[in-house]
Amino acid sequence: MRTFPASIPLEGKTVIVSGFGLMAEPKVRLFKASPCRLKWFIGDATDPVPSDIAQYAEVIRREPTRKDFRGATLVFIAGGETDAIERQADAARKAGSQVNIVDSPAASDFQTPAIVDRDGIVISIASGGAAPVLSVDLRAAIEQLIPARVGVIADLARELRSTVKTVFERFDDRRAYWERALRGKARDLALAGDKSGARREMLRQLNAPAPERAGIVHLVGAGPGNPELLTLKAARLLREADVIVHDRLVSEEVLDLARRDAARIDVGKKQGHHPVPQERIEDILIREARKGQRVVRLKGGDPFVFGRGGEELETVRAAGIDVEVTPGISAAVACAASAGIPLTHRDHAQSVTFASGVVKQDGPDADYRMLAAPNTTGVFYMGVGASARIETKLLLAGRDPSTPIAIVENGTHANERRLTGTLGELSALVQREAVSGPSIIFVGETAAFANRAAVPALEYSA
Ligand code: SAH
Repeated sequence: MRTFPASIPLEGKTVIVSGFGLMAEPKVRLFKASPCRLKWFIGDATDPVPSDIAQYAEVIRREPTRKDFRGATLVFIAGGETDAIERQADAARKAGSQVNIVDSPAASDFQTPAIVDRDGIVISIASGGAAPVLSVDLRAAIEQLIPARVGVIADLARELRSTVKTVFERFDDRRAYWERALRGKARDLALAGDKSGARREMLRQLNAPAPERAGIVHLVGAGPGNPELLTLKAARLLREADVIVHDRLVSEEVLDLARRDAARIDVGKKQGHHPVPQERIEDILIREARKGQRVVRLKGGDPFVFGRGGEELETVRAAGIDVEVTPGISAAVACAASAGIPLTHRDHAQSVTFASGVVKQDGPDADYRMLAAPNTTGVFYMGVGASARIETKLLLAGRDPSTPIAIVENGTHANERRLTGTLGELSALVQREAVSGPSIIFVGETAAFANRAAVPALEYSA
């Protein structure tokens, strides 16, 4: 975070704007509906002051002096000779004010964000002075998303804050109350314009016993890593989760979508050389859900494609806990899209088979006769370490060594890599290119499409 959007309470505070004209006016207008004391020093300007501003700002026809800055919280210096700007900034800083020199982010103590103001709710968008136009466009997008009456809800919440604090001594109980009050019927009433109805409902909730909350486990597919490829439902469940249990494949960018105060349990972290064992993970899911928590078990790709989601579903359900599954975009599908490899094609592949390069010790292997069929696309997960075995087994099962192959490493991440070749050189290619990140190996005629179609890598900036 390059800039920190702190909120400064303005009740009873003084804000000064110094300057006149197009640089100064927007700053003055920012404080139109603010409870601060707003002073606008217009120097020796003789043009008339806009009449709307005259109604809420005290207009003073001279430059501010050191005495004027005393007790001012924020000072905006909008234009003027360099000498005058420096003199004023210096005086304001000596008086203990935070100074913004309009259009000079580097010389300012703080920058002015783009602001969405809905009475009690203020959203600030900051680009650290780098791209004000981008901030303004984002503001427009957010303005459309936020219900116009959200300020009414904030007003009511402010009214009830101290009462709620008295009724519920524990932080968790207070949070549970606010969740019930602000996400339920009271919110609907407020947004429909019925403020007194909303207040009544919030008061009623205050006295109603808290409903027993049953815990739930959501097995959620996080997709291949790029947060844009998360489903809307997965994003919502992440926002609502109390506890998130995730593994190594889930990217930070996806985890950033969760509530800041949700507990995060990383079960993919290597302890010694082993990640948390499967039974332990299932114990954690059950334990957290029994506490009444909304648990999201976030798994790379899709939970039911080589993710042991089936085992987790079974165990958690057997413990008598509700489980729901939300699908995700599996790595094979994401990598195919990214590299331009059609998984099926009327001329080249009438079927597609997902196989795992790694199998349970002494367990059965994938059906290589099927994978070696001439008109199928074979897709291998966890295949990098097993590439020599995959190559040999496919050749033994009759697949031609000249069959096209493609490898997509770190699919949909900024460092995605695509390699192509033939089946006969699969393991040599893996070795030569030192493939080591999560990768999908495609085998079949369709793999020849990789890179041929000019599909750009799905890039995102972390
Ligand atoms: N449930 C996951 C798969 C888990 S198995 C899914 O549906 O995608 C782990 C394997 O998935 C890795 O070894 C690798 O083969 C593949 N994988 C996961 N993320 C990947 C990515 N971003 N790019 C390429 N392969 C990936």
